[in-house]
Amino acid sequence: MISTDPYWKRSFSDLMSHLERMQQDELRCKQFAHVLSILSKVLEGSEVLPPVPQLWEFFGKMVINSYSIHDELHENVIGSGVYLGASYLDHQCCPNAIVSFSGTKLAIRALEPITQPLPNQVFISYIQNDAPSWERREELLQRYYFRCLCSMCTTDAEQTDKQMTSVKCFMANCDGFTGIKEINNDGYCQLWPCVKCKVIEFPTEYVDEVCQLWLETRKFVKDLNKMFESGEIQNALDSAEENLKKVENSLFHESNLNIVSTMAIAKDACISLQLWEKAAVYSEKVLKQVPQYSSCINIMDSLSLLKLAKLYIYLDRPTETVQVLDKVRLDI
Ligand SMILES: [Zn+2]
Ligand SMILES: [Zn+2]
Repeated sequence: MISTDPYWKRSFSDLMSHLERMQQDELRCKQFAHVLSILSKVLEGSEVLPPVPQLWEFFGKMVINSYSIHDELHENVIGSGVYLGASYLDHQCCPNAIVSFSGTKLAIRALEPITQPLPNQVFISYIQNDAPSWERREELLQRYYFRCLCSMCTTDAEQTDKQMTSVKCFMANCDGFTGIKEINNDGYCQLWPCVKCKVIEFPTEYVDEVCQLWLETRKFVKDLNKMFESGEIQNALDSAEENLKKVENSLFHESNLNIVSTMAIAKDACISLQLWEKAAVYSEKVLKQVPQYSSCINIMDSLSLLKLAKLYIYLDRPTETVQVLDKVRLDI
């Protein structure tokens, strides 16, 4: 539809390149120098290589507007490409549409009814939104050079961030939780008020401990993911379970994203190792917490529900299979 609809018509010259910002970015300069050296080698002696300023413009447009092309299960990246019509789409952390691929063919699918499917009414998420607002905003600034002001980053930030970064309240008689408002690059850290006792003043040592624990486990989850993706499945599972035991009695509250992400990797490792029973337990725990983060429709959650249904089939649990499939139907 997009390629023939005049509202979605675009040419390469219409694309944004953020050239000035990009030329001040050390990493981008290194990437450009690398691309330029390859092009010069491949096209050595020929006169087809455009002048450097023009190449910078091409490079900028491609970096900003490229889509990672995923396989149909949305699990592996198989390439990247610039799609002119789809490059119209702006970002929102809680989008109303999603991009999917069939081979290299791109489709934009609505996640909710969109009365006017015009470019300025359809939003996708440029990044994974399972991160607190300050991390998402930083990633968007670094990769796409804009500051996100969507509702999930502004009016809804307190609710979603508090759930994702939840830690037990420090007050002895309170079983509520609080969460991290922001950790900036200088290590400055702030907490939200407790959901139950509403306390807003926290001892410095408590704030320091919370933020330190968050940063350490965030790094742990990233390393664990790398371990899993590099094929060290058993090691990843052992490491995940060891860490889960460690954080069980820590300051983290059960909905904390780092606990949930660790359990999600443990679940994937169990699936790879065909430990169906254990995989189902982890999957149930993850799916109990994730919907609390926000009311956004997330296609990855629906895929997780489908995987859980498949696990129940393997475990010969027909009643639970039907219950989960009903939930998927309601979700998508
Ligand atoms: Zn946002
Ligand atoms: Zn409290």
